Amino acid sequence: MQDTSQKLVKKKRSKKKLVLISIPVLVGVLAGLWYGGLGLMNSRSFQFFCPLVQRVNTDQKVVALTFDDGPAPGTTEKLLQTLAEARVKATFFLIGDQIEKYPALAHMIVAAGHEVGNHSYSHQRMIFKPYSFYQDEIERTDRLIRQAGYQGDIYFRPPFGKKLVGLPQYLCEHQRKTIMWDVEPDSESDVAASTEKLADYTISHAQPGSIVILHTMYESRATSLDAVGSIIKGLQARGYSFKTMAELLAYQHA
Ligand SMILES: [Zn+2]
Repeated sequence: MQDTSQKLVKKKRSKKKLVLISIPVLVGVLAGLWYGGLGLMNSRSFQFFCPLVQRVNTDQKVVALTFDDGPAPGTTEKLLQTLAEARVKATFFLIGDQIEKYPALAHMIVAAGHEVGNHSYSHQRMIFKPYSFYQDEIERTDRLIRQAGYQGDIYFRPPFGKKLVGLPQYLCEHQRKTIMWDVEPDSESDVAASTEKLADYTISHAQPGSIVILHTMYESRATSLDAVGSIIKGLQARGYSFKTMAELLAYQHA
C-alpha cells in the first residue's frame, strides 16, 4: 500500500514538473512563431513560394528610383518635371483607388515614358485575407494601369512591404514579380526631416543594382520630393545611371 501511494505521489510530482517545464517551452515556441511570422511578413529579401527582388545582383553602376503611392495632384506634376529635367526614367508603384480618382495623372506618368507598377487597389496590409481579396486588389489595379495606357510588364509591390502566404501564392501562380527595395531614405524620421540628409543617405547607401524607394506623393513629404534632384545629381556624379525596374532586372547576374 505504502509503495503504491509513494509511486502515486512521485507520478503527480513528475506530472507537475512536466507541466512546469512545458509552459515556458510552449511560450517560447509561440513567441518564436509570432516573431518568425512578423519577420517573414516584413522581410525585404524572402517570401514563401516565389523569390522577390530586393536588389539586382550586378557590378554595373545602375540603380532604379521607385516612387510609391499616388498618383496625387500637385506632387505628381512636380516629380514628373524634376525627372524630365534630369532626363531620368523611374518606376511608379501606383494605388488603384488613386488612379481612379486621378486618371489624368496616371496618363501623364505613362506618357512621360515611366514604368508603372501595381501597389494594390486600396493600400491595405495584404495579410490574413482570403485569396479572392488579393486577386481583386491586384486585377482591378492592373485594369486601371492598362486604361492609363501602360503596356509593359506590371510588377507588384505590397503595401507596407507586407506579405505572408496568400499574397505570394497569388503572385507566384500568376508569374508576377514582387519588387521590394534596399535603400529606404524617407522611412528614417531623422533622415526624412531634411532634403540634404535624404540626398546624402541615398547617395551613400546606394550600390550597383540598388532599388531606392521614396514616398514623394504626399504634401507632408515635401523633403522627399525636393531631394529627388539632388539624389539624381549626386549619384550621377558617382558614375551611376538610372534604370526602370524592367531595365534594371536585365542586369541581374545568373
Ligand atoms: Zn505604399
